[in-house]
Amino acid sequence: MEEPQHSSTQPYLPSDEYRPEPAVEPPPPAWMDGSIRIGIHTSIAGEIASALDLAHNLGANALQIFSASPRMWRRPADGSKRVDPSAQRFRARREELKLGPLVIHDNYLINLASPDRILRVRSIQAFHEEIVRAVALGADFLVAHPGSGKGAPMSAAISAIADGLKQAARGVKFENLRILLENTAGQGTSVGSRFAEIKSIIDQCPELPLGVCVDTAHLFAAGHDLRSVEGLEKALAEIDATVGLARLSVIHVNDSKAALGSHLDRHEHIGKGKIGRDAFRRILNHPQLAGRAFILETPIDRPGDDRRNVETLWRLVGITPRRVGPVADGFPIRRSGKKSAKAKSRATRSHRASAKKSKRQKR
Ligand SMILES: [Zn+2]
Ligand SMILES: [Zn+2]
Repeated sequence: MEEPQHSSTQPYLPSDEYRPEPAVEPPPPAWMDGSIRIGIHTSIAGEIASALDLAHNLGANALQIFSASPRMWRRPADGSKRVDPSAQRFRARREELKLGPLVIHDNYLINLASPDRILRVRSIQAFHEEIVRAVALGADFLVAHPGSGKGAPMSAAISAIADGLKQAARGVKFENLRILLENTAGQGTSVGSRFAEIKSIIDQCPELPLGVCVDTAHLFAAGHDLRSVEGLEKALAEIDATVGLARLSVIHVNDSKAALGSHLDRHEHIGKGKIGRDAFRRILNHPQLAGRAFILETPIDRPGDDRRNVETLWRLVGITPRRVGPVADGFPIRRSGKKSAKAKSRATRSHRASAKKSKRQKR
């Protein structure tokens, strides 16, 4: 066996030197090609990768999912933290479909501001797991509702959330993931109907990659009148003056069943609610919102509602929805052949009317 060399005689190896992580920016993800990103919250029932095909078949090029699926995420028996094979399949399929950004919405039961100690500890643990799963799936954003102080002073609730986020993030390597705090409608004692509250949380966590998700229905219910040009400008000015528009990465595009300032969180189909189609045209085409992902969280009251809402958003940005595969209610997204825009819309109307008729006949 060779005698170990004395350290003073050992040549200096460049690898011995401490070097910080290389400062080269990673290449942008495949989906970030400058095109407008329109997505929809999609079910992960069954195999998680099927959510990707569903979003793609609905005509979206981005998506939001819940990542929680206890069956799938059970720890391997050996206790290792290896990436679940379904997460690898998910990443590969997403790459193929060029879907992005991938937004994960956290579980609604998580409340980092809970005054109940046990519930708060559980929430921190659950949010930690949300972050771990989001990283495993290669998500771009994890959207979180800030929380609710249940009667505690707002400043205490804000500190509890900031502290909870830090604890949940402990020991996690974030890679490209950012946590986005979502504005709320202001129901009950929820934190985040005012952007100054979200700004306070962000300020208390300078070490975390935090951003903002704005929900249009929540904005409206919190008192921002998005129906007018001035109302939208005022809302954007407030966002910019508090959290800063640079931190805004995702917009939840939902019309509202609830009235202006009602503080009620009730989503409606685009153009069918109190906010209205014209407001959404202005939002989707606003120069200050360029580059954001627009994600629908609209209800599905009857088959095809999801696809119709995706179509509506594409039309509002002046793009003919792409032809997609077979869909739930069995109707193609549009007819083939080159028709004038007017003829097309007539065809769509009569197609919808006949669809309605045939449904009625079935009943
Ligand atoms: Zn939302
Ligand atoms: Zn909502």
